[in-house]
Amino acid sequence: MESLDYYEVLEVTRTSDKDSIKKSYRKLALKYHPDRNPDDKDAEERFKLINEAYEVLSDDNKRAIYDRYGKEGLSGSSGAHGFGDIFEGFGSIFESFFGGGMGGTRTKRGENLDSLQEIHLSFKEAVFGCAKTIKNTYRISCQKCSGTGAKDGKLQTCSACKGEGKTYIRQGFVTFAQTCGVCGGAGRQKSQDCPECKGKGYESKEENFEVNIPEGVDSGNRIRIQGRGHADSKGKRGDLFLQIYAEDDENFIRDGENVYIQVPVFFTSVLLGESIKIPSLRGEVELKLPTNAKDGAQFVFENQGVKILNTSAYGKFVAQITITYPKKLNAEQKELLQKLHESFGNESAPHLSALDQCFAKIKSWFKS
Ligand SMILES: [Zn+2]
Ligand SMILES: [Zn+2]
Repeated sequence: MESLDYYEVLEVTRTSDKDSIKKSYRKLALKYHPDRNPDDKDAEERFKLINEAYEVLSDDNKRAIYDRYGKEGLSGSSGAHGFGDIFEGFGSIFESFFGGGMGGTRTKRGENLDSLQEIHLSFKEAVFGCAKTIKNTYRISCQKCSGTGAKDGKLQTCSACKGEGKTYIRQGFVTFAQTCGVCGGAGRQKSQDCPECKGKGYESKEENFEVNIPEGVDSGNRIRIQGRGHADSKGKRGDLFLQIYAEDDENFIRDGENVYIQVPVFFTSVLLGESIKIPSLRGEVELKLPTNAKDGAQFVFENQGVKILNTSAYGKFVAQITITYPKKLNAEQKELLQKLHESFGNESAPHLSALDQCFAKIKSWFKS
C-alpha cells in the first residue's frame, strides 16, 4: 500500500485538535471495520492504516515527531500492524472514559461502581430506535480480600513512598513529584497477593442482555441501565451507562431533531413550477416547486424530522434545492431557447432597464 500522509488518512488537517482527530478516527474506523466489510481486502488495509495514523496523531509526542521528521522520525516502529495493535487502539479509546480507573490498584471500598460502554448505532437505529444486544463486561470485587487484592485484605503503609502516595526526583535544583509507582498513589500496598483473585481485587464477568434504544437518540446521549455496572464484594451493582455514537447517513444530514436533504432540480422544473417526489425519513414527500424558487432555497416539512427525546414532538424535515443547468445544448434546444428568450421582449434584458440611469450618468461624466 502506498505511503499516505497520516493527516490525509484521518481526513483532518495539520491544525486539527485532538477532539476532531478522535472524532474522525472513530467515524473512519467504524466505516472500515473488518466486521462491517467481511472479505474486503481494501477495507482491511484502510482500517490498518487508519489505526496506524491514529496511534501517531493521538499521541502528542509522536505527533510532534511526525510533524517535524515524518514517518522516518518514528524510529521505524510504524511498520505493518497486526490485529492485536488494532484492538489495542480501540482499547485506549474505551479506557479514556473510565479516567484510568480500570487499573487493579485502586479498588478501595466504596469506589464508583458505575461503568461506561460505547455503543455505535447506524443512522436508522438512532433515528427510529432499536433493540440492541449488549455484551457487558463487569467486575465483581473479590470477597476474600474485599477488593483490595491483598491476602486477607491486609494492607500496609507503602514502603516506597512512606504512605505519601508520591515520590520525588531531584534534578539539579529542581525537585519533581510523581505518583508513587509501587502503590499507584494510594499510600498503602499489599504484602502478599490475595490467592483468590491473584491480587487483582476483582473477577471479570461477562453477560449479554437486550436493551431498547429509544427513538431519536443521538451522538452524545447517554443511556443509564440500572444495576448493570460493576459489583461490590456483596454483589450490589452500580449502573451501566451507554454512550451513544450515531453514524451519519450519506443522504440525510441530521442536526439534532431536524433532518436535511440536498435535492438537485433542473432549471425548467423550477420555471414550470413542477411537483417532484423526494425521499423523506419515512417514505416520500411531494415538493411543489414555486416558479420563483432560488438556488439554495429550503422547504420545510414540519413534524417529519426525528422524534424529540422524552416528548411526543418531532423535528423538521428540510429539503434544500440546488438548481442545475444543462451542460450542453443541441441545435434544436438552442433554437427553442433563443425563441423563448425573444418572446420575453424587454423583460429578457433586465440590466438595460434597471441600469438605465447609470448608463446616462456615465455618459455625462465623460462628455467634453
Ligand atoms: Zn507508594
Ligand atoms: Zn482477592
